[in-house]
Amino acid sequence: MSTVAFIGLGNMGGPMAANLIKAGFTVKVFDLVPAAMQTLAEQGALTANSACGAAAGADIVITMLPAGKHVRSLYVGDDNAKGLIDVVAAGTLLIDCSTIDADSARFVAKHAAEKELAFIDAPVSGGTAGAAAGTLTFICGGSDSAFEQAQGVLNAMGGNIFHAGAAGAGQVAKICNNMLLSVLMVATSESLQMGIDHGLDPQILSDIMKVSSGGNWTLDKYNPCPGVMESVPSSNGYQGGFMVDLMVKDLGLSQEAALLSNSSTPMGALARSLYVNHAKQGNGKRDFSSIFEQFAHSEQI
Ligand code: NAD
Repeated sequence: MSTVAFIGLGNMGGPMAANLIKAGFTVKVFDLVPAAMQTLAEQGALTANSACGAAAGADIVITMLPAGKHVRSLYVGDDNAKGLIDVVAAGTLLIDCSTIDADSARFVAKHAAEKELAFIDAPVSGGTAGAAAGTLTFICGGSDSAFEQAQGVLNAMGGNIFHAGAAGAGQVAKICNNMLLSVLMVATSESLQMGIDHGLDPQILSDIMKVSSGGNWTLDKYNPCPGVMESVPSSNGYQGGFMVDLMVKDLGLSQEAALLSNSSTPMGALARSLYVNHAKQGNGKRDFSSIFEQFAHSEQI
């Protein structure tokens, strides 16, 4: 079984690495937060003192980091530090699962190709629950051969694996999806609150809308109204899950992409403004479904 270096063990990377251990891979981990590495070590991972230390000697490198700047500097390095592509062996497959701008993904792919290394962008959908259950959707960009090579390790962490196109295409598809998700979350929140304001039970209203024409993923899997659904962030003080700061980042990426292609994205632009305001009010580290509170009457929050 292959050795996988897994770098970035946060809300998503931690459970993804744990699934690789369960599937029988030898997993060597690194994160800037020692406690995150400790949690994985208790599940059978080997730990490293640096990202390069984890990647040296691995067959596959997987990264799950916050943003493009982290991915660029980690893979390509800078004047002060070597990048992962400087230390991995020939033939190592590089997979970045972070959600970042397509340009950064293409930048890393180009530098990797110069060293004859295969790199794919493979951002995910499915949230922390999907990461824990091993049911993530992977949306990949890169060559056919690298995509084929990645099947085994991606299958150990997810269900649906798509090849969106060449380098960067996975990131473009991912930000289209997240722009849509943010709009659905805002619209679901305002609809639920309007029902509550008129005396409806949010549980009954959710059950109705779920099987009616307004049905969508947030109602099925991630209801933003506290108490309607168990085991989702809204029923846990909006802790864990997908941080508002990360949604703001993704909506910024989608607006940058819209400018580049001269696309009209009014709903995405509005959702970004709402999420930016929500973050400015101190909600950046809370789950993105906490946008529901923007619509609640003051006596309810
Ligand atoms: P997170 O902030 O919980 O985790 C990021 C981890 O990366 C942290 O543990 C941090 O210490 C580590 N890190 C940062 N820089 C590092 C470096 N140079 N070396 C090693 N470790 C480093 O974020 P997350 O929720 O796990 O999200 C990670 C990525 O996945 C983001 O790009 C996000 O947009 C995307 N994503 C998140 C979700 C979700 O539901 N949380 C869903 C889909 C995609």
